[in-house]
Amino acid sequence: MSEAPWQATVLSLFPEVFPGPLGASLIGKALAKGLWTLETVDIRAFAGDKHRTVDDSPFGGGPGMVMRADVLARAIDSVAPVGPRFYMSPRGRPLDQGLARDLAAEPGVLLVCGRFEGVDERVLEARGLIEISIGDIVLAGGEVAAMALLEATVRLLPGVLGEPDSLSEESFAAGLLEYPQYTRPRVWEGREVPEVLLEGDHARVAAWRQSAAETLTRERRPDLWRRYRGRRDEAGRPE
Ligand code: SAH
Repeated sequence: MSEAPWQATVLSLFPEVFPGPLGASLIGKALAKGLWTLETVDIRAFAGDKHRTVDDSPFGGGPGMVMRADVLARAIDSVAPVGPRFYMSPRGRPLDQGLARDLAAEPGVLLVCGRFEGVDERVLEARGLIEISIGDIVLAGGEVAAMALLEATVRLLPGVLGEPDSLSEESFAAGLLEYPQYTRPRVWEGREVPEVLLEGDHARVAAWRQSAAETLTRERRPDLWRRYRGRRDEAGRPE
């Protein structure tokens, strides 16, 4: 291969959970083929004492434990990552398809997975970690969030998906949710496939899909719909 593989470096207290779902199907095949690489770092290996302590109680009081800045910094400094460095965090910029696309264009990424109540704020500043969230939910740890980011990004790398065409039609590609999909059998439990999809008229199929995608987006995601309309109107296309 001429180009260096896309390089993921993940720091975690539970490195054994990787690759997990990232080892399956096309993403896993791409990993086996060397289209991307996954290095995991066990944060606990960088603890300074014989009890291998990685956390401590928060200054100022309050429940739970906080991951120590010094331990985490040693773990980060032990690797030579490429691309941006992120801390998976509910306070972060929400992950979306645009960010996944941007990351696929980078040489790779470093992801820090928190546990407990999170990490000492100072290590975020000192190591330039950008906070990324996978949604307005609180997980028990950053590992599942890191997997979501990696899966969304790796499937966009050249050569990972069998049919790159499928990327241009899917949800968010044009700012819309995807239209409904159907396959055989043609009638199932008395439910029929929309007639237009069976007629072989590609222009009519495209128009039906466009209209279905717009309806779904308008009904389910007014936020996406407003942005889509804004962009469409700016482009001067008729209503
Ligand atoms: N006390 C923190 C939550 C800690 S949850 C707060 O209120 O903000 C423990 C770890 O899970 C975090 O350090 C983070 O790495 C991860 N995590 C939890 N929710 C997440 C989310 N929505 N997106 C990304 N990572 C998340």
